Amino acid sequence: MSLPIVIIGAGLSGLYASTLLNRAGHRSVLVEARPRAGGRILSHVEAEHAQRLDLGPTWFWPGMNPRMQALVDALGLAHYPQHTQGAMTLEAPDGKVLHRPVTWEQSPPSHRLVGGMQSLTDALQARLGDQTHLMLNTTLLSMKLRPNGVELALQDGGGRWTQLATQVIVTIPPRLMAQDIALTPAWPSETLADMTATPTWMAGQAKFVAAYARPFWREQGQSGSAVSHRGPLSEVHDASDATGAHAALFGFVGATPDYRRGIGVDELRRLSVLQLTRLFGEAAATPLWTQVQDWAWEPHTAAQQDQRPLAYHPAYRDPEVPEAWRKSVWLAGTERSALFGGYLEGALEAAEAAVEGVLQNLSSTFSPRPQQPLA
Ligand SMILES: Cc1cc2nc3c(=O)[nH]c(=O)nc-3n(C[C@H](O)[C@H](O)[C@H](O)COP(=O)(O)OP(=O)(O)OC[C@H]3O[C@@H](n4cnc5c(N)ncnc54)[C@H](O)[C@@H]3O)c2cc1C
Repeated sequence: MSLPIVIIGAGLSGLYASTLLNRAGHRSVLVEARPRAGGRILSHVEAEHAQRLDLGPTWFWPGMNPRMQALVDALGLAHYPQHTQGAMTLEAPDGKVLHRPVTWEQSPPSHRLVGGMQSLTDALQARLGDQTHLMLNTTLLSMKLRPNGVELALQDGGGRWTQLATQVIVTIPPRLMAQDIALTPAWPSETLADMTATPTWMAGQAKFVAAYARPFWREQGQSGSAVSHRGPLSEVHDASDATGAHAALFGFVGATPDYRRGIGVDELRRLSVLQLTRLFGEAAATPLWTQVQDWAWEPHTAAQQDQRPLAYHPAYRDPEVPEAWRKSVWLAGTERSALFGGYLEGALEAAEAAVEGVLQNLSSTFSPRPQQPLA
C-alpha cells in the first residue's frame, strides 16, 4: 500500500490543504492535537439563545481577500458588513467617556460570516468525506527523515506510535514547530532561531464577548465601536448578527496575559462588564451571557514568547526548508504567507502553495487525476 500524505494541524490552513488535495483526487491524513478542528477559529455556541459569537477571528475583507471570498462563495456561506453606523466612543485614562459623531470605518470594509467564522471551518470539515482521515486528539512529537519518506512520532490518549508519510504539510505556527517538534536530522540553528523569532499572530490576545437582549447602543445613536485607554478592553465592536436581533458586543482585552492570569477569568468578566457600562450606560450591566477566551495560555497556539504583547503586525516570510527535507516536508499556516501573513487569507495562500508543491512532486511519479469540484 502506498504511504499517505499527512497534514499536521486542522486549522484553516490544514483543512484547506486537505480540501485541495481531495479536489485533485488525493487522500490525506489530517492530524490535530486538539479535540476539535479549527485552530484559532472558534465560535462560542450559546444554545439557549441560539447565538454563536467569535472568540477568535471575526473579519475578512472581501475586497482584499480573494481566496477567502472565493471559498466563502463556493461553500455557500452568507456574510454581512461589520456594523459601524453611529457615534464612536472614546474612554480616556481617567475614565472620562466621549461619544464622537464620527463613524468608525474599516477600509476596505470588513465582513462577518453568518453563524460566526467557525461556519467556515465547520463547512470545510463537513465536506472532507472519506478522502481525509481526520485524527483529533493526536499530537505530532517528532519527524525523522527516512530513505522512503518521513517517520512521524504521534501521540494520542492511547499512547505513542509512528507513521511513515510520503510527504508532510506542517501547518502549525513556526514557534511551536521549533519548540515542540524534534527533527532528525536537525534543522540548522539559524532556521530554528528564525522560526522562534516569528510571532504567532494574535496568540497573546484575549477576547471578551457579551450578548444582550437588544442592541441598546444602536438605539442610543452609538455604533458599539469604542477605543479605551483605561481597559481592561482596549477596543470594542458590535458583534450582533446580520439582523441585529441577536445583539452582542465584543472586545479585545488590552491587559497583558500575566495580568489576565493574575486576576482570573471571573474578575476579568466583571471588570469588562463594568467597563461596557461606563462606555454605553446601565443597559450594559446586565448581559444575557458573557464569555472570555484567552489564547495566550493555549499550548497549541501560543509559545511562551507569545505571552508578551505585540505592538505591530510582523512582516512574515516563508522560511527555507533545509535541502535534505525539500520534497518531503512543506510548511504552511498563515505565518508562512509573505503577503497576508497572520490573516485568514494567509492561511489559505500558504496552504495553496504547499499543496502545489506536493502535487508537482507527485506528478513526477504519478499520472495526474481529474479535479473534483469544491462544494
Ligand atoms: C483573537 C483573534 C482574532 C483574530 N482576528 C482575525 C480577523 O478578524 N481576521 C483575520 O483574517 N485573522 C484573524 N486572526 C488570525 C486568524 O485566526 C489566523 O490567521 C488563522 O486562523 C490561522 O490559521 P492556521 O491554520 O494557519 O493556524 P491555526 O489556526 O493556529 O492552526 C494550527 C493547528 O495546528 C494544531 N497543532 C499545534 N501543534 C500541533 C501538534 N504538535 N500536533 C498536531 N497539531 C498541532 C493546532 O491545534 C491548530 O489546530 C485572529 C486570531 C485571533 C487569535
